[in-house]
Amino acid sequence: MDIIHLLPDSVANQIAAGEVIQRPASCLKELVENSLDAGATRIQVIVRDAGRTLLQVIDDGMGMSEMDARLAFERHATSKIREAQDLFSLRTMGFRGEALASICAVAQVEMTTRRKEDETGTLLEIHGSDVVRQEPCSCPVGTNIKVSNLFFNVPVRRKFLKTDQTELRNLLNEFYHIVLVYPKVSFTFVHNDEILLELPAGTEKQRIEAVFGNPKKNVYTSAFVDIKTDTELVSIHGFVVKPENATRKAEQYFFVNGRYMRHPYFMKAVLTAYSGMLSNDYQPSFFIYFDIAPEAIDVNIHPTKTEIKFADEQTIFQILMASVREALGKFSLAPTIDFDTQGSIDIPVPQTDKTVKRPQMSVDPNYNPFHTRGAIYPDRAPKNWESLYEGMSASLNDEMSAARPLNDALISDVDSCAMWQYGGKYIFVPTNGGVMLINQHRAHAAVLRAQFLEQLGMSQSAMQQLLFPEILELPQDEMVLMAQLLPDLRAIGFDLEQLTPNSYSIQGIPAQLANQSALPTLHAILAQVRERGANTQVEWREQIAQSLAESAAIPYGQTLSETEMRDIVQRLLQLPSYRRSSDGKIIVSLLSDEEIGKRFM
Ligand code: ADP
Ligand code: MG
Repeated sequence: MDIIHLLPDSVANQIAAGEVIQRPASCLKELVENSLDAGATRIQVIVRDAGRTLLQVIDDGMGMSEMDARLAFERHATSKIREAQDLFSLRTMGFRGEALASICAVAQVEMTTRRKEDETGTLLEIHGSDVVRQEPCSCPVGTNIKVSNLFFNVPVRRKFLKTDQTELRNLLNEFYHIVLVYPKVSFTFVHNDEILLELPAGTEKQRIEAVFGNPKKNVYTSAFVDIKTDTELVSIHGFVVKPENATRKAEQYFFVNGRYMRHPYFMKAVLTAYSGMLSNDYQPSFFIYFDIAPEAIDVNIHPTKTEIKFADEQTIFQILMASVREALGKFSLAPTIDFDTQGSIDIPVPQTDKTVKRPQMSVDPNYNPFHTRGAIYPDRAPKNWESLYEGMSASLNDEMSAARPLNDALISDVDSCAMWQYGGKYIFVPTNGGVMLINQHRAHAAVLRAQFLEQLGMSQSAMQQLLFPEILELPQDEMVLMAQLLPDLRAIGFDLEQLTPNSYSIQGIPAQLANQSALPTLHAILAQVRERGANTQVEWREQIAQSLAESAAIPYGQTLSETEMRDIVQRLLQLPSYRRSSDGKIIVSLLSDEEIGKRFM
């Protein structure tokens, strides 16, 4: 008997829907992007119960013909590309022709639509991929899509939805990402009959103010400093707040070519530009827009991903940092740094607000935009120590160049040299050309993270039985999350058995955690996955690996033997990107011979 058969379309659509439509926010994003693609100038979003019961998007765009209205809900139906070739010249936001097919597979959809050249419009009603009604109707020009009872036929998905409060926050975040790049389109957002946002058409700055400029958010345009830089590689413009307007909870946004993106490494560039100007837990709000040739970025075409790779991240890092520095400096907010001054220096900053402490300026020995302005342009970069060590600088958080083998000379340097620990915190490694200063905890965490990630891809890992099993008690929503993570937690060495409907017993833990208590580690993993909103296995595996590494890494203050140091350093240097942690923190800092020499001039 044949056992292979094709899945009916409705099932295939439901499966694919899981990828495109993960929660109300992803549904909203697809609908609003369609409206923008249709040239709408006014878009209304109406939501009920955080999108569980209703998500409606009304636009004044070009509308659809009767035929197109029906076709739009077929998988891979798109008016936006015809050939694979077109993928490279995309101007519209959507292009896969999957969104509407996915949405109608998991919800009840009602749509009315009319083109301006048509006298009557079309009404279409689809429940779980079945067309239940299609007829002419009278309606305004544009499209009005109502998505009701999302996931009505996928109970598992429904169960995974968070509280209304969280889902509403997700909806709003998704909405911000879009409205901040389309200031010329007017938007409204209504939730349970309450108008949450009313955004008239205007400039970028006006849009930002309209979205965030309420007293609670503390993002006023008067607090902004403009940034603007044009180079051959990239153009950057946007707004950053003055240091004294930093807040505990800041709004931080990057956009590239009209799309929102997350970019921890560039985030680091901005924060570095502020270094010494902010007090501890204060953060600057910023809205930074990049324009770059499409060939220079890899827009992950997966519709739910917001991370984007740039071909030349290090150069852009420098350009961005210099640009923010310059902007802050122009308003004499940033001090001019004198590099020959040792240690830290105090810089007076206008004190309009108690929140700003008299800052400590710590000098970054690797880069000074004011002295070596040319360094931001790759062709004019000075020949410095880093560029001699090709393998070292190339791996700076850049997975593309990461594949390059590490300079053998460096490894053999490390094999033979003496190294020492400083302050219970750093490992100093003299190499040929300078001294590497390594943060011991971060180094070990990076090494462990890589190790855990590798183990997550394998079937069995080293486990250590606990003499006395511990009990992990969890609230209902975390039990759901736990069930999702369970196979991976087991693969990595946790021996977990469900005990009651809201607890697990822990009988074994990953060998690397030997001295740690399992409970805080597991709670940390759950918190991390939940906070970062991991939706795919790749994402939550990264977070599991990250939390485990944090817990298991040697703490500051622990004395290391020569052998231990050598072991960590060697394993660190094998990592494709060992100079910064995955979240952009510096692990290795280089003090070149030149820098050292300078101090004696
Ligand atoms: P994609 O946006 O990737 O093309 P979708 O499934 O989101 O795929 O939409 C399918 C098609 O339906 C679009 O290519 C477009 O022609 C049409 N469409 C969807 N929404 C609208 C809208 N609001 N106004 C006009 N046409 C629309
Ligand atoms: Mg679309």
